[in-house]
Amino acid sequence: MEVVLAQAAGFCYGVKRACQVAFEAAQTHPGGVSSLGPIIHNPQMVARLAEAGLKVIGDLEQAPVGAVLIRSHGVPPEVFGELRRRGFEVVDATCPLVQRAQRLAESLAAEGYRVVVVGEPEHPEVKALVAWADAGRKPDAPGAAVVQTFADAAALSRAKRIGVVAQTTQLEEEYARLVGELLKCADELKVYNTICDATAKRQRAMLDLLGEVEGMVVVGGRNSANTTRLYERCREMRVRAWHIETAEELEPAWFAGMRRVGVTAGASTPDWIIEEVVERLRGF
Ligand code: SF4
Repeated sequence: MEVVLAQAAGFCYGVKRACQVAFEAAQTHPGGVSSLGPIIHNPQMVARLAEAGLKVIGDLEQAPVGAVLIRSHGVPPEVFGELRRRGFEVVDATCPLVQRAQRLAESLAAEGYRVVVVGEPEHPEVKALVAWADAGRKPDAPGAAVVQTFADAAALSRAKRIGVVAQTTQLEEEYARLVGELLKCADELKVYNTICDATAKRQRAMLDLLGEVEGMVVVGGRNSANTTRLYERCREMRVRAWHIETAEELEPAWFAGMRRVGVTAGASTPDWIIEEVVERLRGF
């Protein structure tokens, strides 16, 4: 059976960088390194990092003395202050593209714009963006708002000046539509494009491949939103697809009679897992 890997699949720049920073920190801090939440939505990679010495904690109360790693989504500015106050060394693996969005949110608020973050309200990156904006605002200015849907945008109270940033993983078309709605809420609208195209690139590469294969194997953590989205797109396009985390899950019977199968992977799937999947499929 022929196996074709999508042109863009697997680790994005920010996640790859965060994992490298985590492995290096684990090696250079024999006293221990903790990460505030799992550094990546991939259980196999989290297990490897744990073997290397990275401990995942839910909050700072659980952190042993030593270094604390900030994952690629970033954290609110007050977390940095709290870490330093408690004497932790900070290892910052925030993705530089997320840092850019944080700086823009903060500066918009400092310039007097009411900041609107377009994204998922419960996502840690969005929560941190709101906190960075609020850290920059003047004392009597309203806090930053999060908009995810048209209804959210329509419900926003009118403001003279609104400044907008997006969660980095938003899709451009969706962002543009919501920005159009926000135009109705302000005399002046300042919009930054803070979208990173890693997610869109993986989707485009997979869609390009769908017409050429009889089935698609989507590799990545079941807790990874962008991997799940790739799988859902296959289903929407009525292509046979399987979402797996590791090569061991593959069943030869799934591919009976197929001559060409595609493989894609979310932005949090390490190369070694993708290679194992491709290798095993080629043996079917
Ligand atoms: S998806 Fe983009 S912004 Fe998010 S961590 Fe990866 S490279 Fe950075």
